Amino acid sequence: MEIVAGVHQLRIPFPEGMERFTNAYVIEGSKGNILVDCGWDSSEAVWAFREELRLERLSFDDINWIVVTHIHPDHFGLAAKLRELCGAEIVMHRLEASLIDSRYVDYRQLGKELEEMLVSNGVPPEEAARMREASAWAAQFVTPTHPDVLVDDGDTISNGTFQLEVLYTPGHSPGHICLYDPRKRRLFCGDHVMFDALPRIQAHPQSGADPAGDYTRSLEYVVEKPVSFVFPGHGPVFNSLTIRSEEILRRYEARRRQIAGVLDDGLKTAYDIAREIGWRSGGGEASYGDLEFRERRAALCEVIAWLRFLAGEGRVAALEQHGTTAYLSK
Ligand SMILES: [Zn+2]
Ligand SMILES: [Zn+2]
Repeated sequence: MEIVAGVHQLRIPFPEGMERFTNAYVIEGSKGNILVDCGWDSSEAVWAFREELRLERLSFDDINWIVVTHIHPDHFGLAAKLRELCGAEIVMHRLEASLIDSRYVDYRQLGKELEEMLVSNGVPPEEAARMREASAWAAQFVTPTHPDVLVDDGDTISNGTFQLEVLYTPGHSPGHICLYDPRKRRLFCGDHVMFDALPRIQAHPQSGADPAGDYTRSLEYVVEKPVSFVFPGHGPVFNSLTIRSEEILRRYEARRRQIAGVLDDGLKTAYDIAREIGWRSGGGEASYGDLEFRERRAALCEVIAWLRFLAGEGRVAALEQHGTTAYLSK
């Protein structure tokens, strides 16, 4: 669908059983067309791409550049195949590109570090091993490849019609980028800001020390820009970047208060906290015990991210004992 002049949205389905879509965008220009984000690597997704392009009276050959906002499988998985089909160049942030091999080519070391991080946050070793195994499934929907063009904050990608400034927005992923056209006031923002979902913020061996702090600063960075249309990686296109950002920050503050509140009863690990607060699974409320191992890992990584943020603000203190980190409210 052509949402505004020169911007086509393509809806690419997630693998079977997951009722979600990735939004990919084709940005038309006098000197070529830019695709923003790709979807998971599955035969359904390739077919959907072909059909969605056809509906826009476009074909694979019309794509000249593929910008990947971040390397999560739902944005990066299909990039290698699309490059081949389109004869296009892949563009990515320098830092994000450096994480590809350890995440998708040989992920044993990363898996080991993840397991160690979980155990040091109080997860029993058998459960941590199950969580590590459960994380590996996504790799089957990613064909790893390396970008042709590396970009940094402040670079401009031009197709003659759109002048897209690269905004470095770490948080949801350490090398996440948004694309911003200041003249047209368009923001292509991957998973940085969505209208109907909260971006996942998780501590991870690749995330850097304070992904939640990074995220909050990155949100302030994009909110400063005058924006008329926001094109997110999932869910509807929207206009109200400032209002939505304030809402996201309010929701995260409520989450932090909830996490900090559990610490009022005493010293706890991230694992203790994850078992005491509510979660969502399959569209409904769930307790930690109801979650699958993949969801448990995500839950733990989220709690750890917020605990580190709270520690950075001086609201909680981290205490190490016998290789386990526990937290205390101050
Ligand atoms: Zn993502
Ligand atoms: Zn996503």
